[in-house]
Amino acid sequence: MKSKTMYHIECFTPQICPHCAHPINREGVNFIRYMGTIKDGVKTIDPEYPRIICKHCEGEPFKIIYFETRQLGDKNEAERLCRESNFINLMEVTAYGNMTQDHVTKYTDANGKALPRLQPRMQSVECS
Ligand SMILES: [Zn+2]
Repeated sequence: MKSKTMYHIECFTPQICPHCAHPINREGVNFIRYMGTIKDGVKTIDPEYPRIICKHCEGEPFKIIYFETRQLGDKNEAERLCRESNFINLMEVTAYGNMTQDHVTKYTDANGKALPRLQPRMQSVECS
């Protein structure tokens, strides 16, 4: 199956920790995903997923709301979107099959309506 190195970027809110106001923009560096807990060898998935934990203060996990993710073959374009819009968390990924084409993932509410543009970073700008 065909594979290709691509660049995955995300737009979600908040991008600042609600506990300590530290920026949230690099998974593994300043935030981690909270998947749930393991008790007696059984992992229970967090019903509130996706939630994340700020690595700066390690406070309570908090809910994030996705607006959009993109996967691009052009690293320069992914970096530009992170610089000039509200995309964060640039990750290099290996894509396979028809995921090797550039694509946008849009998130909707339970009724299939696009989520309102909620000012992910500072209450003023859109994702794209
Ligand atoms: Zn924090």
